[in-house]
Amino acid sequence: MLTEISFYNSVLLGWLGVAAAVFVVLQFVVAPYGRHARKGWGPSMPRTAGWVLMELPAAALLPALALFSARPLSVPSFLLLWLWLLHYLNRTFIFPFRMRGGTVKIPLLIVASGFVFNGINGYLQGGHLFLLGPARGAEWLSDPRFISGVVLFLGGWLLNMRSDAQLRALRAPGEEGYKIPRGGAFRWVSCPNYLGEIIEWAGWALATWSVAGLAFALWTAANLVPRARAHHHWYRKTFPDYPDKRKAIIPGLF
Ligand code: NDP
Repeated sequence: MLTEISFYNSVLLGWLGVAAAVFVVLQFVVAPYGRHARKGWGPSMPRTAGWVLMELPAAALLPALALFSARPLSVPSFLLLWLWLLHYLNRTFIFPFRMRGGTVKIPLLIVASGFVFNGINGYLQGGHLFLLGPARGAEWLSDPRFISGVVLFLGGWLLNMRSDAQLRALRAPGEEGYKIPRGGAFRWVSCPNYLGEIIEWAGWALATWSVAGLAFALWTAANLVPRARAHHHWYRKTFPDYPDKRKAIIPGLF
């Protein structure tokens, strides 16, 4: 009989395999939303509702699993839950309503993929923290892996939030089109918001010290590194005066 732990481990293993496949596919296909939107990807829906819908499973699943777990909630798990909510309450309920650029649509295919991704990922992260992972007590709070992971997470979160805010400020409400972002970490890379996101989940992997956390960090990089390269090439092609020393996502490297 399939036990809960063997089911969880099978999903996790499959999840790592899918991340590798996605990384390969994204070398050739750019996800068709934002500046890379194009025809031929089926029906679409309003962007704000699409973002809320696709991020909702992540925002809801961890608190739900924490609430309904038979295990008492440890202090480290409680703190990690708050880090998760710090990110996902913004991404689900604030960020989509602050995006500018008019009445843009997003393909249903992207929303459906995001929804499934967040559902599976939410189950894996919550499953590790509240159901099946090692029950870590208060001693984990002074472990260097937890401390450095939390510091990395918060640093990445700040970079992501600040860079998203800089992008938002490039457009007046209702304005469309693109401009060259300048200042902050845009001095070095075209996509500091993506870099911040990758740093955040690398910190999460460290602080949770879990294969599930590592899988999420790898997924994020598999998704966002190729997209940052596509953004970077697009900027170079679109703006002849684009800063030539700026890299795509890793300062000084690529
Ligand atoms: P982008 O950087 O492509 O866009 C963010 C917002 O800024 C969009 O509203 C976009 O408009 C606008 N924008 C971007 N560049 C410019 C510019 N040069 N001039 C004017 N406006 C601009 O990010 P994404 O939309 O791909 O992602 C949004 C957030 O979600 C990011 O913080 C990202 O890290 C996160 N994310 C996380 C993923 C993960 O795997 N964990 C996956 C995908 C996203 P428009 O939409 O019209 O292009």
